[in-house]
Order: sequence, then C-alpha cells, then structure tokens
Amino acid sequence: MTTNINCIDGSILQLNDDELESFKASLRGELLGQADKDYEVARQVWNMMIDKCPALIARCTGAADVITAVRFAAERELLISIKGGGHNIAGSAVCEGGLMLDLSGMTAVIVDPEKKTVKAQAGALLGDLDHETQAFGLAVPTGINSTTGIAGLALGGGYGWLSRKFGHTVDNILSVDIVTADGEFKHASATENEELFWAVRGGSGNFGVVTTFEFQAHDVGPMVLSGPCVYALNPDILKKYRELEKTMPDEAAIWLVIRRVPPFPFLDEKDHGRPTIILAMAYSGDIAEGEKILAPYRNLGVPLGDAVAPNPYAGWQQAFDPLVGPRARNYWKSSDFLELTDDVIDIICSAVETMPSDECEMFIAQLGGAAGRVAVTDMAYPHRNTRFTMNIHGRWQTEDMDADCLSWVRGLYSNLEEHATGSVYVNFVPEDGEVRKVGPYGANQKRLEEIKGRIDPKNLFRTNINIKARPIK
Ligand SMILES: Cc1cc2nc3c(=O)[nH]c(=O)nc-3n(C[C@H](O)[C@H](O)[C@H](O)COP(=O)(O)OP(=O)(O)OC[C@H]3O[C@@H](n4cnc5c(N)ncnc54)[C@H](O)[C@@H]3O)c2cc1C
Repeated sequence: MTTNINCIDGSILQLNDDELESFKASLRGELLGQADKDYEVARQVWNMMIDKCPALIARCTGAADVITAVRFAAERELLISIKGGGHNIAGSAVCEGGLMLDLSGMTAVIVDPEKKTVKAQAGALLGDLDHETQAFGLAVPTGINSTTGIAGLALGGGYGWLSRKFGHTVDNILSVDIVTADGEFKHASATENEELFWAVRGGSGNFGVVTTFEFQAHDVGPMVLSGPCVYALNPDILKKYRELEKTMPDEAAIWLVIRRVPPFPFLDEKDHGRPTIILAMAYSGDIAEGEKILAPYRNLGVPLGDAVAPNPYAGWQQAFDPLVGPRARNYWKSSDFLELTDDVIDIICSAVETMPSDECEMFIAQLGGAAGRVAVTDMAYPHRNTRFTMNIHGRWQTEDMDADCLSWVRGLYSNLEEHATGSVYVNFVPEDGEVRKVGPYGANQKRLEEIKGRIDPKNLFRTNINIKARPIK
C-alpha cells in the first residue's frame, strides 16, 4: 500500500507503508490519514468556503513532533501547511494533498506574574491567553475574538482593544521557539538569531513553525469599561466620531461596525435588523476616567441602545464570538485608511442598503497610539501609519448566496480603492490573494525576501501570504 502526497514542485510522491509507519511511530501525537475517524474534523478551518484535503495530518503535541514532521517533510520536499487556531480567512492552515501540521492541541499558557511575561504554545487561542493572564490581572494585546489562534494572529501583526495603549501583538513578542526549514529548533529574540526574530514579527509564518511564543504582558482589568453603543445609520455619527477621535487617549479604543443590527437584548425589538452604526468601545485604564473619556462618544446622537459598562476584560474579549462563529461562508476584503473622509463615509453608509445577507458588515478597527509610534523597519510588520483598517466582512450561510455576497464585497472594495492607502494587513488577505499596490509587507518586502532566501531558500513554508525567496548573491 502507498499514500500519495503532494510535493512543493507539484509532483506526487508515493509513501510506502513502512515509511508511514516509521513516521507515525516517531510522533507522540496522532498521524491521521484520510480514512481515519478524526480526519474530517481535523482538516476543517473556520471559513466554510475552504474545502481542502491534506493527504496526512500530524497532530503535534510539542516541539519534538514539530521537529520530526518538518524534517520528514523537508527531506522529501513535501507540501506542508501549519494549523494554529485555523481562523485564517484564506484557509492557509490547510493544504490540498500535502502534510498538515496541526498544532491546535498545543495550548499550554504559563504566566510569570513577577516578570509579567507569558509563554504560550502555538495552538493556544486568544481565550486561553486571556484566561491564564487575567488570573494575575495581566493581559497581552491580541485581537477581539477569543476563538482566534494566537499563532497566526501574532505572526501577522495582531491588533485589538489594547493596541493603542500597549502596541500590537508583534510589538509584545519577546522571543519565539521555532523550527526552521532545515529542521533545526531555534530560539529567536532581540539577542539571539536576531534576523529571524525581525522576520517572524510580521512575516506571517514564512520562516518556520513557531512552537512557543514569549510575550510581554501588561496590567489590565480585571474590569474594563467596555461595550457597544448603537446608533441608527447616519453619516453624521461617523463624522462626529471622526472629529472627536483625533484627540482620543491611548487607553481608549473605539471600533465601528456598520451593519443591520443583530437582536441584541438591550435593544428594542422593533430595532432588530435596522441599519446601524455600532461603536464598540473599551477603555483599559481607570474606570471613572474612562467614563469621562467615552461619554462624548455615547452622545453623538440619541443611541438606540447603550450597553457600555464595566465588564470583565476576558468577557469583553468574547463579546463578538457569537457573531463570528465557525463554519459559515466568509469572504473578506480589507483596506487601510489614513482618515475617514466624507467620501469614505458616504460609500460605507450607502453599502448597507445593498448588503446581501444580515451577517455582512463593515468592521473598522481604530489603530494609532503606541502601535503607530514604532518605526516601520523595527520588525517585519510595516503598517505603522494606518489609522483605520476596514474589513468588509462578507458572511452568509448557503452556497446559493455565494455569487451575490462575493460581488457585494468586491464592488465595495473597488469603490473604496482610490481612498485607501494601498496597504493591507496580511491576516486579512483572502484566498484569491488580491492586494493593492503597497501590499501586506510594504517597505519591508525586499528585506523579507532576502531573509527568506537565507532561511527557507526552497520555500518549504509557502501556504501563507508567501514571500518569495530572493537568491543569495
Ligand atoms: C472571526 C475573526 C476575528 C478576527 N479578529 C482579529 C482581530 O481582532 N485582530 C487581528 O489582528 N486579527 C483578527 N483576525 C485575523 C487573524 O489574525 C487571522 O485569521 C490569523 O491568521 C488567525 O490565526 P490562527 O492561528 O487562528 O490561524 P491559522 O489559520 O491556523 O493560521 C494562519 C496562518 O498562520 C500560519 N501559522 C499558524 N500557526 C503557525 C505557527 N505555529 N508557526 C508558523 N506559522 C503558523 C499558517 O500557516 C497560516 O498561514 C480575525 C479573524 C477571524 C476569523
């Protein structure tokens, strides 16, 4: 018996049973083939639009399994992919016909409360981090949805409620343990394997398989002033917000969600499904001070509902989970802006009328603050001047709506083209890989290509928003 498996050059390798059995025996975790009971679930990722079938899935339990699996793949030049939380919109955690390294069982998180540092294995979800760190009144700046994987998020950038105060997730990586394409296990930090450390912080999985991250944590919570304030759709609300936020302190973050509002319990039933602007806000400092800072944003007009209140930080991190559960059909496109001009606001507000599904939305992350004060060349993540990242979330349930939803997302994305910076956050690039002129790696593209040429010249790590290896001169 043999198992066919895809290689990076497009050829197919036949693995015989002896090879497979010896690979299996060298792992502590399971090795799943397509006939195995758990295979179907293991191959799934968050976005239902992605339907790929690896030939084999190695469920790694720790660094030893990752080293074994990378060596097995590198020796045979197999196509591989790495699964952390499986949340990537492009589905890059899973590859067709290759070997998937599934790290989702590696979820240990260990906090050092004295040093305020955290070690997290690469399969941990944001909720795992929040759970462990909040026990000590600490938090690592990550994203706003607790079921997202820390690995993909951190390697691409990572931003959420704490980014304006404490920087992006990449800005808080102290070190990584990583297995590179030569199968070697390395520690990379500001003083060890510095070039690799520079590249992994924004290079999005192109440089090896991270097994453990070490993060800087900060004092946060446990209660933070947070919640949604919902207004009926009206461009004036966005214009007032735009003026006020220019002087917003770093402790505050207010993101905008423009959509037909879900049946939030604090809203009058007659308003359910109404086109709205949701100001989702968090203040990471003193609650009484936060009340003063956030008050003007809760009085931009007469809200349909206002649920801003002191909440446990870890709870606010889960607030959007029900709206973005797994296994729906999703197509996202993302644009960065320096400001929300009148034209941008008008385009956004008009787009609500044509939304093809009640689950579609425009989600605008407010950036700046500490994350904007890091030099572009300090690490691979380059988009330091982005003030707003707007994600057009196309989301729906059934295949018959695919064409309408894709066309709505693409139409809106194209209408925003001339107003956007042309850069894009690598973690929001969809499967078709279409990006504008500046792209995901911006000014750091060339240096990343050179490092890729030194560290992964054969491009073993390619199922990602790929950086081509620049030949070494
Ligand atoms: C509902 C939702 C909400 C989101 N909210 C935010 C947000 O608030 N802020 C934000 O910044 N982003 C957000 N994102 C985007 C998120 O950062 C990306 O989807 C990210 O890729 C998720 O990481 P993951 O580990 O879950 O992904 P996976 O799909 O498992 O992996 C993503 C990519 O990273 C690579 N990778 C994974 N693990 C490793 C590893 N250990 N070593 C090397 N490479 C690896 C994979 O090969 C793949 O290319 C959100 C996404 C979703 C779907």
